[in-house]
Amino acid sequence: MVQFVKLRLTGFKSFVDPTEFLIERGTTGVVGPNGCGKSNLVEALRWVMGETSAKRMRGGEMNDVIFGGSASRPSRNLAEVTLHLDNAGRDAPPGFNDYEDIEIGRRIERDKGSDYRVNGKSVRAKDVQLFFADLATGAGSTALVSQGRIGSIVNAKPTDRRHLLEEAAGIAGLHARRHEAELR
Ligand code: ATP
Ligand code: MG
Repeated sequence: MVQFVKLRLTGFKSFVDPTEFLIERGTTGVVGPNGCGKSNLVEALRWVMGETSAKRMRGGEMNDVIFGGSASRPSRNLAEVTLHLDNAGRDAPPGFNDYEDIEIGRRIERDKGSDYRVNGKSVRAKDVQLFFADLATGAGSTALVSQGRIGSIVNAKPTDRRHLLEEAAGIAGLHARRHEAELR
């Protein structure tokens, strides 16, 4: 099985200096005082997997993931996140099995948008999104549930909550298709 082993952040949100987060087997939690960057860390993971919504990154625009400066440090123009994966079992999705260690990177330059790399080679956002979808995870996966989302699930009307269950069951697309069929 492909394992997530390390997340490297540079200039991403509050992680202005290069920071490595080792994802050891059996890791079950990240603890720390309010505002220390726990959510930013999870957002970095979601971002490198191909998140396209600035709002879901708690920003107004995607540039907002770049370190925006503090009282003692000037802002940056570049943010980079790299996720290291262990593919010793060579069971990554097709096209990725030349490597025992897979490094997926995403970089954003202020006002210039972002680009993706797999082991240094430039790839499309779609390639990265499909890679994680094939591993049954990704930026939109229910494996990652943000704080705000918990509140909205708890407070949701039963009909809205049903939509979540349908999504999990993989039948969310059926309503749209039925509606389309009824219009014919
Ligand atoms: P809590 O326990 O309250 O959920 P947390 O550990 O999840 O806290 P985060 O939300 O990850 O904390 O981090 C918040 C901090 O990150 C704030 O201090 C905020 O100013 C800082 N931050 C967010 N985006 C940026 C940015 N682009 N540049 C600089 N700092 C940022
Ligand atoms: Mg948080």
